[in-house]
Amino acid sequence: ENKTPLLEITNLTAHYGAAQALFGVDLKIHQGETVALVGANGAGKSTLLKCVMGLVTPSGGTIHLDGQPVTGSTPATMVRHGLAFSPEGREVFPHLSVEENLTLGAMALKLRRGEQQTHLDEVYQRFAKLKERRSQLAGTLSGGEQQMLAMGRALMAHPRLLLLDEPSLGLAPKITDEIFAIIHQLSRSGTTILLVEQNAARALSGSDRAYLLANGEMVQQGQSDQLLNDPALRAAFLGAA
Ligand code: ATP
Repeated sequence: ENKTPLLEITNLTAHYGAAQALFGVDLKIHQGETVALVGANGAGKSTLLKCVMGLVTPSGGTIHLDGQPVTGSTPATMVRHGLAFSPEGREVFPHLSVEENLTLGAMALKLRRGEQQTHLDEVYQRFAKLKERRSQLAGTLSGGEQQMLAMGRALMAHPRLLLLDEPSLGLAPKITDEIFAIIHQLSRSGTTILLVEQNAARALSGSDRAYLLANGEMVQQGQSDQLLNDPALRAAFLGAA
């Protein structure tokens, strides 16, 4: 594959004060792919997504979108470049309505009213629950509904690349199945996805390729189905499952 990647991360480093969280990480995503980023707690997965989204400023390395350098851009600029982020823990605004939360997802695009309504209608078509509850305060939603809201808010920006951080965290298995079915639909409808998941088996079975991050370094990458069957990775990471 010699096409220019949609996202190319090269030799990325990140620090929180004196503590280094990423040590020269490389990652590429081509248009249309669903790529999983797996690794233990504290491996640096969220930090990597936040660097891409402009929420954490990298201390070194580069980030390119379609071959153009975007390292250090603000989150609003990244949204205008076609990125959207659904954060770990959902981070919905509990005292705003569902619809107000959704509207915030496209704020950086400064849409005209009619366009904003079109984006809302599309999100409501994908998430019927959100439409039913559009006037309700987001804080009164269940965990699964809040996850749908966080994803819907990201989709309001019509992203070319959707960054999903731990979409199944804290959700019951049945709800997790629903969330993964939605991720699969998004992927099939052409959205490029970078998926961070603690549940490695789940992430690998729902993605084309995957990267394994350990202590801030990329230690393995490959086709997800191959990683899923890799004996060393299974032993080290997927446990006995
Ligand atoms: P988790 O799934 O637990 O979020 P992760 O793989 O996403 O794990 P990060 O959240 O990126 O890992 O954390 C990487 C390292 O950076 C950890 O050592 C963490 O303690 C540290 N870290 C993360 N956020 C901050 C912060 N705001 N200030 C200081 N250190 C941080």
